[in-house]
Amino acid sequence: MSTGSASLTVRGIDIEIIYKNIKNLHIGVYPPLGRVRVAAPHQLDDEQVRLAVIQRLSWIKEQREQFKSADRQSTREMVTGESHYVWGVRRRMKVVERPGRAHFELDGERLLLYVPVGTTAERRRDLLDRWYREQLRNVLPGLIAKWEALLEVSVPRWNLKRMKTKWGSCNRETGRIWFNVELAKKPPGCLEYIVVHEMTHYLERNHDERFTKLMERFMPNWRKLRDQLNDAPLAEEEWA
Ligand SMILES: [Zn+2]
Repeated sequence: MSTGSASLTVRGIDIEIIYKNIKNLHIGVYPPLGRVRVAAPHQLDDEQVRLAVIQRLSWIKEQREQFKSADRQSTREMVTGESHYVWGVRRRMKVVERPGRAHFELDGERLLLYVPVGTTAERRRDLLDRWYREQLRNVLPGLIAKWEALLEVSVPRWNLKRMKTKWGSCNRETGRIWFNVELAKKPPGCLEYIVVHEMTHYLERNHDERFTKLMERFMPNWRKLRDQLNDAPLAEEEWA
Protein backbone atom coordinates (compact mmCIF):
# COMPACT_ATOMS: atom_id res chain seq x y z
CA MET A 1 0.00 0.00 0.00
CA SER A 2 1.33 3.42 -0.91
CA THR A 3 0.91 6.35 1.42
CA GLY A 4 1.79 10.01 1.55
CA SER A 5 3.18 11.78 -1.43
CA ALA A 6 5.81 11.07 -4.04
CA SER A 7 7.03 12.50 -7.28
CA LEU A 8 8.04 11.16 -10.66
CA THR A 9 9.46 12.59 -13.81
CA VAL A 10 7.90 11.26 -17.00
CA ARG A 11 9.56 12.44 -20.24
CA GLY A 12 10.77 15.62 -18.63
CA ILE A 13 7.50 16.45 -16.87
CA ASP A 14 7.57 16.53 -13.07
CA ILE A 15 4.58 14.85 -11.53
CA GLU A 16 3.44 15.10 -7.95
CA ILE A 17 1.56 12.07 -6.63
CA ILE A 18 -0.69 12.11 -3.61
CA TYR A 19 -2.01 8.82 -2.33
CA LYS A 20 -5.53 9.08 -1.05
CA ASN A 21 -8.41 6.98 0.08
CA ILE A 22 -10.13 7.05 -3.33
CA LYS A 23 -11.22 4.49 -5.91
CA ASN A 24 -10.00 6.05 -9.15
CA LEU A 25 -6.86 7.78 -10.19
CA HIS A 26 -7.25 11.45 -10.99
CA ILE A 27 -4.83 13.59 -12.99
CA GLY A 28 -4.93 17.36 -12.84
CA VAL A 29 -2.93 19.94 -14.77
CA TYR A 30 -2.92 23.29 -13.01
CA PRO A 31 -2.36 26.85 -14.13
CA PRO A 32 -0.38 28.93 -14.51
CA LEU A 33 2.65 26.77 -15.10
CA GLY A 34 1.04 23.45 -15.99
CA ARG A 35 1.91 21.68 -12.76
CA VAL A 36 0.80 18.03 -12.88
CA ARG A 37 -0.70 16.46 -9.82
CA VAL A 38 -1.99 12.91 -9.54
CA ALA A 39 -4.35 11.72 -6.83
CA ALA A 40 -3.99 7.95 -6.67
CA PRO A 41 -5.69 5.21 -4.66
CA HIS A 42 -3.49 3.59 -1.98
CA GLN A 43 -3.69 0.26 -3.83
CA LEU A 44 -1.51 1.53 -6.68
CA ASP A 45 2.24 1.71 -6.46
CA ASP A 46 4.52 4.30 -8.09
CA GLU A 47 5.09 2.10 -11.14
CA GLN A 48 1.38 1.65 -11.80
CA VAL A 49 0.90 5.39 -11.45
CA ARG A 50 3.75 5.97 -13.90
CA LEU A 51 2.04 3.73 -16.46
CA ALA A 52 -1.27 5.51 -15.99
CA VAL A 53 0.48 8.84 -16.52
CA ILE A 54 2.20 7.60 -19.69
CA GLN A 55 -1.16 6.50 -21.08
CA ARG A 56 -2.52 10.01 -20.57
CA LEU A 57 0.63 11.83 -21.63
CA SER A 58 -0.79 13.33 -24.79
CA TRP A 59 -3.74 14.76 -22.87
CA ILE A 60 -1.36 16.19 -20.23
CA LYS A 61 0.81 17.78 -22.92
CA GLU A 62 -2.23 19.28 -24.59
CA GLN A 63 -3.33 20.93 -21.32
CA ARG A 64 0.14 22.30 -20.74
CA GLU A 65 0.31 23.72 -24.25
CA GLN A 66 -2.96 25.53 -23.64
CA PHE A 67 -1.55 27.26 -20.56
CA LYS A 68 1.53 28.24 -22.49
CA SER A 69 -0.40 29.72 -25.38
CA ALA A 70 -2.77 31.56 -22.99
CA ASP A 71 0.35 33.06 -21.44
CA ARG A 72 1.67 34.12 -24.84
CA GLN A 73 -1.62 35.65 -25.91
CA SER A 74 -1.76 37.82 -22.87
CA THR A 75 1.54 39.53 -23.62
CA ARG A 76 1.31 42.97 -22.13
CA GLU A 77 1.30 46.19 -24.11
CA MET A 78 3.16 48.00 -21.33
CA VAL A 79 1.01 51.13 -21.32
CA THR A 80 -0.43 53.33 -18.56
CA GLY A 81 -3.36 51.72 -16.76
CA GLU A 82 -2.15 48.14 -16.96
CA SER A 83 -1.57 46.43 -13.70
CA HIS A 84 1.40 44.34 -12.71
CA TYR A 85 2.00 42.34 -9.59
CA VAL A 86 4.96 43.14 -7.38
CA TRP A 87 5.51 40.99 -4.27
CA GLY A 88 1.89 39.86 -4.27
CA VAL A 89 0.45 43.37 -4.63
CA ARG A 90 -1.30 44.47 -7.76
CA ARG A 91 0.02 47.83 -8.92
CA ARG A 92 -1.23 50.19 -11.58
CA MET A 93 1.45 51.14 -14.02
CA LYS A 94 1.99 54.69 -15.18
CA VAL A 95 4.27 55.31 -18.12
CA VAL A 96 6.15 58.60 -18.09
CA GLU A 97 7.77 59.40 -21.42
CA ARG A 98 10.85 61.53 -21.05
CA PRO A 99 14.45 61.53 -22.20
CA GLY A 100 17.09 59.88 -20.07
CA ARG A 101 17.72 56.50 -18.58
CA ALA A 102 14.75 54.13 -18.82
CA HIS A 103 13.80 52.64 -15.48
CA PHE A 104 11.05 51.43 -13.17
CA GLU A 105 10.22 52.92 -9.81
CA LEU A 106 7.65 52.24 -7.10
CA ASP A 107 5.64 55.27 -6.10
CA GLY A 108 3.14 54.47 -3.35
CA GLU A 109 0.71 52.02 -4.91
CA ARG A 110 1.87 52.78 -8.43
CA LEU A 111 4.54 51.34 -10.59
CA LEU A 112 6.20 54.06 -12.65
CA LEU A 113 8.00 53.42 -15.89
CA TYR A 114 10.25 56.19 -17.19
CA VAL A 115 11.11 55.74 -20.85
CA PRO A 116 12.16 57.89 -23.77
CA VAL A 117 9.43 58.51 -26.36
CA GLY A 118 9.26 55.75 -28.95
CA THR A 119 10.37 52.90 -26.68
CA THR A 120 8.83 49.70 -28.03
CA ALA A 121 6.57 47.41 -26.01
CA GLU A 122 9.19 44.70 -26.31
CA ARG A 123 11.88 46.92 -24.82
CA ARG A 124 9.50 47.94 -22.01
CA ARG A 125 8.76 44.29 -21.23
CA ASP A 126 12.47 43.65 -21.16
CA LEU A 127 12.95 46.52 -18.70
CA LEU A 128 10.25 45.07 -16.45
CA ASP A 129 11.88 41.67 -16.57
CA ARG A 130 15.18 43.21 -15.51
CA TRP A 131 13.47 45.16 -12.75
CA TYR A 132 11.84 41.98 -11.40
CA ARG A 133 15.25 40.29 -11.43
CA GLU A 134 16.71 43.22 -9.52
CA GLN A 135 13.98 42.92 -6.86
CA LEU A 136 14.85 39.25 -6.42
CA ARG A 137 18.59 39.94 -6.32
CA ASN A 138 18.00 42.46 -3.55
CA VAL A 139 16.37 39.95 -1.22
CA LEU A 140 17.71 36.53 -2.16
CA PRO A 141 21.21 36.87 -0.63
CA GLY A 142 19.69 37.68 2.78
CA LEU A 143 17.18 34.84 2.59
CA ILE A 144 19.79 32.35 1.47
CA ALA A 145 22.19 33.40 4.25
CA LYS A 146 19.41 33.06 6.84
CA TRP A 147 18.57 29.51 5.73
CA GLU A 148 22.19 28.48 5.25
CA ALA A 149 22.63 29.12 8.98
CA LEU A 150 19.40 27.36 9.94
CA LEU A 151 19.87 24.32 7.70
CA GLU A 152 23.65 24.18 8.10
CA VAL A 153 24.24 23.90 4.38
CA SER A 154 25.78 26.25 1.86
CA VAL A 155 24.53 27.31 -1.54
CA PRO A 156 27.51 27.27 -3.90
CA ARG A 157 25.76 29.21 -6.65
CA TRP A 158 22.31 30.46 -7.55
CA ASN A 159 20.74 32.30 -10.43
CA LEU A 160 17.47 33.49 -11.94
CA LYS A 161 15.66 32.40 -15.06
CA ARG A 162 12.22 32.19 -16.53
CA MET A 163 10.79 28.71 -16.29
CA LYS A 164 7.47 27.55 -17.63
CA THR A 165 6.74 24.77 -15.21
CA LYS A 166 8.87 25.28 -12.12
CA TRP A 167 9.30 27.89 -9.43
CA GLY A 168 12.76 26.70 -8.59
CA SER A 169 15.16 23.89 -9.23
CA CYS A 170 18.29 22.51 -7.70
CA ASN A 171 20.99 20.88 -9.80
CA ARG A 172 22.00 17.59 -8.24
CA GLU A 173 25.59 17.61 -9.47
CA THR A 174 26.61 21.24 -9.03
CA GLY A 175 24.25 22.23 -6.22
CA ARG A 176 23.30 25.34 -8.14
CA ILE A 177 19.80 26.65 -7.47
CA TRP A 178 17.64 28.37 -10.08
CA PHE A 179 14.79 30.65 -9.10
CA ASN A 180 11.93 31.57 -11.41
CA VAL A 181 11.82 35.32 -12.14
CA GLU A 182 8.01 35.14 -11.75
CA LEU A 183 8.54 34.81 -7.99
CA ALA A 184 8.94 38.61 -7.82
CA LYS A 185 5.19 38.85 -8.54
CA LYS A 186 4.27 36.65 -5.60
CA PRO A 187 4.02 37.41 -1.88
CA PRO A 188 7.50 37.40 -0.25
CA GLY A 189 6.63 34.31 1.82
CA CYS A 190 6.30 32.30 -1.39
CA LEU A 191 9.87 33.15 -2.40
CA GLU A 192 11.10 32.11 1.02
CA TYR A 193 9.20 28.83 0.68
CA ILE A 194 10.99 28.11 -2.61
CA VAL A 195 14.35 29.01 -1.04
CA VAL A 196 13.71 26.55 1.79
CA HIS A 197 12.34 23.89 -0.56
CA GLU A 198 15.34 24.01 -2.89
CA MET A 199 17.85 24.16 -0.04
CA THR A 200 16.15 21.19 1.64
CA HIS A 201 17.13 19.23 -1.47
CA TYR A 202 20.73 19.41 -0.20
CA LEU A 203 19.55 17.23 2.66
CA GLU A 204 17.14 15.06 0.70
CA ARG A 205 17.06 14.80 -3.08
CA ASN A 206 13.61 13.34 -3.51
CA HIS A 207 10.17 14.57 -2.60
CA ASP A 208 9.67 11.65 -0.27
CA GLU A 209 8.42 11.32 3.27
CA ARG A 210 11.75 12.41 4.69
CA PHE A 211 11.68 15.55 2.58
CA THR A 212 8.18 16.36 3.80
CA LYS A 213 9.25 15.82 7.43
CA LEU A 214 12.17 18.21 6.98
CA MET A 215 9.89 20.83 5.45
CA GLU A 216 7.44 20.44 8.36
CA ARG A 217 10.28 21.06 10.75
CA PHE A 218 11.84 24.03 8.94
CA MET A 219 8.71 25.74 7.75
CA PRO A 220 5.51 24.45 9.37
CA ASN A 221 3.27 26.58 7.12
CA TRP A 222 4.91 25.46 3.85
CA ARG A 223 1.70 23.93 2.45
CA LYS A 224 -0.13 27.20 2.79
CA LEU A 225 2.67 29.03 1.00
CA ARG A 226 2.81 26.39 -1.74
CA ASP A 227 -0.93 26.69 -2.33
CA GLN A 228 -0.69 30.46 -2.37
CA LEU A 229 2.00 30.15 -4.99
CA ASN A 230 0.22 27.67 -7.22
CA ASP A 231 -3.43 28.48 -6.90
CA ALA A 232 -3.51 32.22 -7.43
CA PRO A 233 -3.39 32.34 -11.22
CA LEU A 234 -0.79 34.57 -12.76
CA ALA A 235 -3.30 35.00 -15.54
CA GLU A 236 -5.61 36.98 -13.28
CA GLU A 237 -3.60 40.13 -13.77
CA GLU A 238 -4.02 39.89 -17.51
CA TRP A 239 -7.79 40.01 -17.64
CA ALA A 240 -8.83 41.86 -14.51
ZN1 LIG B 1 11.81 19.91 -5.18
